[in-house]
Amino acid sequence: METEKLYYKEGKLSAFTAKVLECREAKNGWDIVLDRTAFYPEGGGQPCDCGTLDRLEVLDVQEQEGCILHRLEQPLLPGTEVRGQVDLARRFDYAQQHTADHILTGVIHRRYGLDNVGFHMGKESTFIDLNGVLDESALFEMERVANEAVWMDLPVEASWPDDDALARLDYRSKKALVGPVRIVTIPGIDVCACCGTHVERTGAVGLIKILSVTRLRGGVRVEYVAGRRAYGYLDAVLQQNRMVSAALSAQPLHTAEAVRRALEERDAARQHCAALERKRFAALAQQQCGRGDTLLFEEELSADSVRRLADAVKETCGGTVLVLSGADGAGYQYALAVKEGNLRPLGKALNEMLNGHGGGREETFLQGSVQADRTQIEAFWRSCRCGAEIE
Ligand SMILES: [Zn+2]
Repeated sequence: METEKLYYKEGKLSAFTAKVLECREAKNGWDIVLDRTAFYPEGGGQPCDCGTLDRLEVLDVQEQEGCILHRLEQPLLPGTEVRGQVDLARRFDYAQQHTADHILTGVIHRRYGLDNVGFHMGKESTFIDLNGVLDESALFEMERVANEAVWMDLPVEASWPDDDALARLDYRSKKALVGPVRIVTIPGIDVCACCGTHVERTGAVGLIKILSVTRLRGGVRVEYVAGRRAYGYLDAVLQQNRMVSAALSAQPLHTAEAVRRALEERDAARQHCAALERKRFAALAQQQCGRGDTLLFEEELSADSVRRLADAVKETCGGTVLVLSGADGAGYQYALAVKEGNLRPLGKALNEMLNGHGGGREETFLQGSVQADRTQIEAFWRSCRCGAEIE
């Protein structure tokens, strides 16, 4: 026997009573069949309703041949009467997202003839796949038109036309349909075969905001949020913008320009630092001219700068150079370089003695880090480079 679907008769019905017709043992609990229900089952890309039956949590709701199955952890006795309670806030949230799909897809279909061939409602946003390419500017224009339809507060009507009426009707459908077909109409915007739950008028959708557009198999995937989710999302973006605005002392509508300027200044400062570093490293390299094997400690260099300094000094010192930067306790970055020769045996000994990691593709240049104190590093250098001076 088919379950009477109260959610189609009264969209805002949250509490209801029903009779338990069957209690089937299932994989992770029990599937309860009632004579009537306000619980919408999962279907058409829309998740099922949540709520309780006699205060027991409804874990899942599925439809099988007209029967609605309510999954519970515990069984219910057939013949008894139960009280159902549907989580209407969640239902309304999904109805906002779903109705937004009708509006957005409807206006795109009317304007460009594209069809919605994939639909997924997630916990945070919804995705629709269109079977053709639309560029971002066209989609954002469709977003604007869709929002106009929201604010016109049009009715969202459901009907079951008979076969003749259905045959004459031009409507969207994802698949060939048999049996009675439920048609959801938003006048002037969309006519679509759909079994989902919707808000009663488009105004309740509030706002539709496209978040992203990506190319997908010859079409595009459009991600959007609607209603309360759109409000929450835009509020979060606004808070971010408020922080950027305060940090850069920029007007809220001019933050992008302020960020661009800040990045330009940062890039110029980086170039200036790099030029100063080149000069300083050239001077340091000159100081080590002809010194032979050289150990150099420099403060607060990045691993890249350690490498560049070792590169510069190896050209002038006439021996092997070991450059380090770091601190006792935290460890040191190192670069080991020589103009000609094989540094691998020395690098291996250094890593072994000073608790280090590192290496390199060329035998004349190795880099890595050591976990050792400066005195240990100096002792190591003395032990393998007798008489070499320490800077
Ligand atoms: Zn629908």
